[in-house]
Amino acid sequence: MSVLTHLLPDSSNLILENCQLDKIKTQINLIVSAISRVVNCPVCNQPTQKIHSRYERLLADLPWADYSITLQLRVRKFFCINSLCKRRIFTERLTNVTAPRARKTLRLAQRLSVIG
Ligand SMILES: [Zn+2]
Repeated sequence: MSVLTHLLPDSSNLILENCQLDKIKTQINLIVSAISRVVNCPVCNQPTQKIHSRYERLLADLPWADYSITLQLRVRKFFCINSLCKRRIFTERLTNVTAPRARKTLRLAQRLSVIG
């Protein structure tokens, strides 16, 4: 598992929770989540650790040998605890991993744009 952890994008902030290898589809699913306990509100910058909910994003990542890689990223939503802030709930930002609403990791997008 430790080798796999080092191959994750932004391995300082992502933890590998599980992985599934599908030999027939030559695909590996990596179930990952962010380590950071405290995140800052993107509007007022107030730190918070009050989790609202979680959801999953599927991101294509760079292939390993013949296997395609999908990151099953467990993203958290947080409450902003600043009563003066207009944002009540926000999604954690993983700016070193992917862009908001993207379907790929940043490093896969960069690699594809170099090839293209
Ligand atoms: Zn806020």
